[in-house]
Amino acid sequence: MIKNTSMKPASSASLGVEKPPKSEIVGVPMNARPDPSETQPLLAAAKQHLYANYAQPELVMSHGQGAQLWDTEGRRYVDFFAGIAVSTLGHAHPALVEAISSQAAELIHLSNYFYTAPNLELAQLLCELSGFDRAFFCNSGTEANEAALKLVRRHFFDHGQKERDVILAFENSFHGRTIGSLTATGQPKYRTGFGPIGGVVHVPFGDLEKTRAALSDRVAGILFEPIQGEGGVVPAAPEFLHGLRALCDESGAFLIADEIQTGVGRTGHFLACHRSELRADVVTLAKALGGGVPIGAMLCREKLASALPPGSHGTTFGGNPLASRAALTVLQTLKSEGLLARVVELGQRLQSQLDSLVEKHELLASRRGQGLLQGLVLTDPSVGGSLLSALREAGLLVTFAGGVAIRLTPPLTISDAELDEGLAILDQVLGTFS
Ligand SMILES: *Cc1c(COP(=O)(O)O)cnc(C)c1O
Repeated sequence: MIKNTSMKPASSASLGVEKPPKSEIVGVPMNARPDPSETQPLLAAAKQHLYANYAQPELVMSHGQGAQLWDTEGRRYVDFFAGIAVSTLGHAHPALVEAISSQAAELIHLSNYFYTAPNLELAQLLCELSGFDRAFFCNSGTEANEAALKLVRRHFFDHGQKERDVILAFENSFHGRTIGSLTATGQPKYRTGFGPIGGVVHVPFGDLEKTRAALSDRVAGILFEPIQGEGGVVPAAPEFLHGLRALCDESGAFLIADEIQTGVGRTGHFLACHRSELRADVVTLAKALGGGVPIGAMLCREKLASALPPGSHGTTFGGNPLASRAALTVLQTLKSEGLLARVVELGQRLQSQLDSLVEKHELLASRRGQGLLQGLVLTDPSVGGSLLSALREAGLLVTFAGGVAIRLTPPLTISDAELDEGLAILDQVLGTFS
């Protein structure tokens, strides 16, 4: 036991732990030398011991730099995937590497019993950038949505409207995989076999009249994505979003924007809602927020600040100093590197190049999306899987969303050269599919 009788905190030096010098903690990741001898034993471990709920290809990723990744065989990939729109600053960004390393040497975790500077500074900057007033922190997107759903239900419960517990959500939406968020998810394929929980009514995305028709005095909130990401990159029309705002104003229900995929700069605005000047009451963030370190956030207006009183909701890891410091660094870098403007510029370039690919290749029906969240809708979605594999083998990583669209979500820091290289691979591989 180490006794610290002076009331001062024990410094790391007094515990015999020297902080590593900066030069050792910044730069190329330690495993930056791919080792082909690792591949087979690791793949064998995957077959034998990993729960088989995903369908990974037969390779093991080793390390990354910027918008590039290497596997253990030393093969290089251009990353238009960013860990499902997560690696905001790309891989091994020096500022993020330094922040995580130095924070780990100071304090990784405390639980929610105490304030810490990284978490408070994050709350402040997040509210400044988003225009919201209060931040609750958790560890993932689905948890951020759980918090939002509990928030609006509890608000009405505490205001004498105990029956007001219904959430309107949209068909083809994706809100997460916990039972609560899953119930809000508007794609049956994700819900099959997990039983009905109730409390959510799904209406067609983009259909204001059907949304109005579904609105009753039991509806506590309307939950929507400004662009349905997992649904295949389907943007909502600004008029639809403003229509939802008006419906909420008339009925007193809260408008909840799920910006887990669209938020933190991906569309060239800090929030996609900012683009159409839409004022939601609650917004949820995760994916890009920590640049790869797990963190989620539920932000709300001051009028909802006391809906979840002490003890009513929480999570052990939420807002821990390590994740908070990572997210704070992502937000600071977004500002210092002028990334929102850069995403607007890159998004325009990407859009016009993708539009030419749509002209050129029969397999592409259309392009949709904003900024660095783009989808290429396939005329024959059944080739989606083999197209994805062919692209990967040619050195480009993308995802297939909603069973209809190739989805491109590169890091916001992607260089012109990396973008061009990825687009050239896309063009070349699409050529082999016609
Ligand atoms: C990914 C995603 C979620 C779920 O986030 P997890 O971190 O995987 O729980 C929820 N909503 C949207 C819009 C998403 O894209």
